[in-house]
Formats: sequence, C-alpha cells, structure tokens
Amino acid sequence: MGTLWIVATPIGHVDDISLRAIEVLKTVDGILAEDTRHSGRLMARLGITTQLKACDQHKESQVAVWLERHLAQGKSWAYISDAGTPGISDPGGRLAEHVTEAGHIVRVVPGPSAVTAAIMGAGLVAQPFLFVGFLPRKQGKIERLLTQYASLDVTIIFYEAANRLEKTLTLCESAFLGRRVVVGRELTKMHETFHRGRIGEPLKPAFVDKGEVVVMIEGGVELHVQSDVQPMKRILSDANLTKKDKIKRLKEQHQFSRNEAYDLVEWWRSEETP
Ligand code: SAM
Repeated sequence: MGTLWIVATPIGHVDDISLRAIEVLKTVDGILAEDTRHSGRLMARLGITTQLKACDQHKESQVAVWLERHLAQGKSWAYISDAGTPGISDPGGRLAEHVTEAGHIVRVVPGPSAVTAAIMGAGLVAQPFLFVGFLPRKQGKIERLLTQYASLDVTIIFYEAANRLEKTLTLCESAFLGRRVVVGRELTKMHETFHRGRIGEPLKPAFVDKGEVVVMIEGGVELHVQSDVQPMKRILSDANLTKKDKIKRLKEQHQFSRNEAYDLVEWWRSEETP
C-alpha cells in the first residue's frame, strides 16, 4: 500500500534530524516540500537524492489529488515543511486530511518543533498550555484574543518574528501585566537565547530583534515550582532548628525519605560553611 509519510525536519541545528527521518526520506519515491529550494539544501547536506516536488500551503488540495493516484499505485511519498513539524503553523495538515479521507495510509516521523524546544528550556511550568501559533496582525484582534486567553489561566505560547516582538509584548500588557514571560530566540542555532522577565518589564538579556522567536506567558501562578522550593530552603537555613528538626520537617512537610533529608541537610550545611 502506498503511504504518505509526514516527516519533521530541524528548526535550526541540522543534527536534530532523526535517523528514522533520514531513512524514510531516502527510501520514499518522492518528497513533497513546502519550498523545494530551501529543502533541497537540507537534502544535499544529508546526502539524500530523492526527487523533490513543491507543495506549499496554497497547493495542498491540488497536490492531494495528484498524490492519491500515486499512492493508489503503491508509491510512497513524504511531506516536509521548511522547518520543524509539519502542521504546526506550517502546511501538511490538509494534505494528510485529503489522503486519509481517500483511504490511504498516513504515517509520521516526529521530531523538532520550536514550541516543544521552547517548553524544554523555558523554566516555566507549562501545563496546561495553549499553543496558538501566530497571533493575528490587526491590533484590535490581538487584544481581543489576548483578553480571552488571559481568562483561561493557562500558559499561552505563540510564534512571533523578533522584529515585531517589542510591539506585541506591549499589547500583552493590558491582559497579562506582571505575569512571567520567557522568549526563546533562535533555538538550536548558534545564538540560542532564553530571555526572561515579566510582562511590563524589559527582557533580560538585552533583546536582539533579529531571528525567530517563541513567546511563553505563564498561566496559573499557583503552579510555580518555587512555591515548593522556598519553604524547603527556609527550613534548611533556619538557624533556630537543629539538624534533627530539619530532617523531621523535610520528611513530614515535603515527603523526603529520612536518607534524602539527611543528605540534603548535610549538603546545605557544607555549602553554607566556607
Ligand atoms: N513548523 C515549525 C515548528 O514545528 O516549530 C514552525 C514553522 S512557523 C512557519 C515559523 C515560526 O516558528 C517562526 O516565525 C518562529 O516563531 C518559530 N520558530 C521556528 N524556528 C525557530 C527557532 N529555531 N527558534 C525560535 N523560534 C522558531
């Protein structure tokens, strides 16, 4: 049976391509690519010589009709977008929809995506999160949407171009003022940076408005990891508690085993004593 493979490609660092992705891209009858010139460069670096055919977001339905014939003849094709995971703010979804509706098989090779990379390094509690792709361009629409999102009390994640970030973050102020925000910029590339701050204050380190970014605005502040960490640190640094008291409290209040609590108290003491 012919199969359509939906394959994720790197979002920056070429070595993030998976072994399985390379295998599939080498062995299919052809690769549909959002932009053949762009993907041609990646294929050349990976030594993949499979034929490429263009399939951008405006052509998904037309290509689907063409593809169905090939799949019916037992051929297999792959779809790749310019970067990352097809279907995540990229084409691919409609193609898969047409192909499954026609009764053919769709298989996936998951891999890099800017949204998951950003969550990995953000240092925020991301669950639950709402990924909204790109925000609309019109200011009124953005503000209306942000107000709706703010009422959900979940971490909001969206894509943005670095040169529009400052303006977009200013628009976020009326709905999210004071919430923690992390901006992941140029992830997996040479200048990968995570900028952290609160909505309403400048991002640190100083933001360079070039490249690609993912914005994460923290929701449910109750979920902070710090809400557990601070009380533990208070016990560890309390000069009025004996070692035994500290171990007892860590066991009772923070679910440590006796050995874990003992090790933690010892380690903390060695760090405090120069
Ligand atoms: N399909 C891709 C994915 O899985 O992440 C997203 C494609 S979307 C057209 C492009 C947007 O993703 C960029 O404008 C940027 O917001 C985000 N993005 C892509 N690569 C990125 C990277 N290396 N670092 C930060 N953001 C990135």
